Amino acid sequence: NLNTETELIGKQEVLPLYQPREKFSHKGSFGHALIIGGSYGKIGAVTLASRAALSSGVGLVTAFVPKCGYVPLQSSFPEAMVITDKEEECISDISFEIEPTAIGIGVGIGAHDKTVTAFEAFLKANTKPLVIDADGLNILSKKKALLKLLPEQTVLTPHPKELERLVGTWKDDFDKLEKTKAFSKKYNVIVIIKGANTITVFQDKYYVNTTGNPGLATAGTGDVLTGVITGLITQGYQPLVASIFGVYLHGKSADIILQDYGYQSLIASHVIEGLGEAYIDLF
Ligand code: AMP
Ligand code: MG
Repeated sequence: NLNTETELIGKQEVLPLYQPREKFSHKGSFGHALIIGGSYGKIGAVTLASRAALSSGVGLVTAFVPKCGYVPLQSSFPEAMVITDKEEECISDISFEIEPTAIGIGVGIGAHDKTVTAFEAFLKANTKPLVIDADGLNILSKKKALLKLLPEQTVLTPHPKELERLVGTWKDDFDKLEKTKAFSKKYNVIVIIKGANTITVFQDKYYVNTTGNPGLATAGTGDVLTGVITGLITQGYQPLVASIFGVYLHGKSADIILQDYGYQSLIASHVIEGLGEAYIDLF
């Protein structure tokens, strides 16, 4: 039922996408997510994304961060494994020996010259499914040739400013959608246009989400979305399904926790906590 050109995504649409857990499963059944990002003062972004990936249902999560991220991650998030770069304050060389199932990259990563070089080298070597967010997107905007290196159906999760840097300015919402479709086709990527009524675009098709609320207009909620979608791909959902389902779950969580926090007090960590109830609503 993801065949039509456009669709409003609510509970009825995501129910058939949802994969329940089987009794004889173990953590190896749900894959290993890797979140790469962070820089001095922005380790929280990686913590949020990693925690969201784990709470989306993956078996294992590893965070790859500069050295300054080691202690905060290990002490605030004991379920995660952590690999550090050789640099203290920014990522300069993305090398690791693990075999992740899928990778989310860009949250809090910054745009230091060393990081840009490392990001470029990483894209040249990488073969795993990818989700790219935040400064990862900004680096792609500055070096469009890198877009040719992405695995097919890589998921890009821009907010409006990041989208503008990727596809150029638009006249109105229709033009924005057309420009995004053209970009998606050209590079064979999935683009998630974030905002109220987030739209997931893949080539000529687009899916308009119906969950979420202005409580999400707060720091770190985008990092949580990156973690959720990376986590769903890691569990075996196809990237387009993971994008549509992830955007739905993220918004549904925000709708559920709104009753406890209201628009003003809702923060990104609460959105991670609400994922459980968003899933339970589908049982
Ligand atoms: P970012 O700007 O990267 O932190 O991402 C913000 C997240 O919050 C995205 O998932 C947006 O779709 C969501 N968001 C922001 N503002 C709103 C809004 N007014 N209504 C619903 N969702 C929103
Ligand atoms: Mg963001």
